[in-house]
Amino acid sequence: MEVAKTIESIRRLVGTARSRGKKIGLVPTMGALHIGHISLIEAAVKECDFVVVSIFVNPTQFVPGEDLEKYPRPLEADLKICRNAGVDAVFAPTPEQIYPGENLTWVNVEKLTEPLCGQFRPGHFRGVTTVCAKLFNIVAPDIAFFGQKDAQQAIVIKRMAADLNMPLEIVICPTVREPDGLAVSSRNQYLTAEQRKDAAYVYKSLQKCRQMIDAGIADTRKIAVEMRKILQQASSIKIEYVSIVDAETLQNIDRIAGKVLAAVAVGIGPARLIDNILVDAGKQ
Ligand code: AMP
Repeated sequence: MEVAKTIESIRRLVGTARSRGKKIGLVPTMGALHIGHISLIEAAVKECDFVVVSIFVNPTQFVPGEDLEKYPRPLEADLKICRNAGVDAVFAPTPEQIYPGENLTWVNVEKLTEPLCGQFRPGHFRGVTTVCAKLFNIVAPDIAFFGQKDAQQAIVIKRMAADLNMPLEIVICPTVREPDGLAVSSRNQYLTAEQRKDAAYVYKSLQKCRQMIDAGIADTRKIAVEMRKILQQASSIKIEYVSIVDAETLQNIDRIAGKVLAAVAVGIGPARLIDNILVDAGKQ
């Protein structure tokens, strides 16, 4: 496995692979790799002949006051995980490589970035889309792999790629969970044992939503009230939002119909955790 720290070196490695007719896969990450990331890497290894994992804690997607400085950066452990997973090249640039001076060009996806996390993290998605556009231009993958865990991000990236005619496919992989249902996340390591127990209520609230939809309840307000009641059983949880939206437009819906995204964001101690489920309710 090669480790490239510069744009020039990753371009050279990918260029050689491409000239040999290899299909290039990219898994963009911020490092602190866990089984969620590994599932994306496995999907990439299965689909592609040359897999690049980028490890970059992207400063422009952090809102002032967030955890940019203390975000974990265990590079050596990450490289070992990549090596074991069959990655061909890791791209681990410095912030100066990606943002050499004042950045004057930004990619902004409208509308889809306004609800859900967009309300609480102003500028976050602009940072995500800009860095992904840069990574796509640098690596030029045939396929880029993202997780359903960050549902809004996945939809926004897909839309950016489509609207800007980017010549790649975006593949979304299912959310990997702990045995108690908690979505695996690099930020889970911020939690104390007590907070970690409370964190399981996030998925419990989403399961409640699924049960209510399965039982034929179509009033989203009613469902959200029950989801909130479950979250309130955990004393350390501070609810940011509980939303039931159209899975394509991300707009709020009054009644369950078609493809629905139920999404939750909470604060627990120092961590901000998000999770979601997709439910295809058909016509109700
Ligand atoms: P991050 O390093 O948090 O920016 O995540 C990098 C990629 O891994 C994103 O596409 C995430 O959606 C994905 N990811 C993070 N956690 C999970 C998980 N538990 N299951 C599946 N994908 C995940």
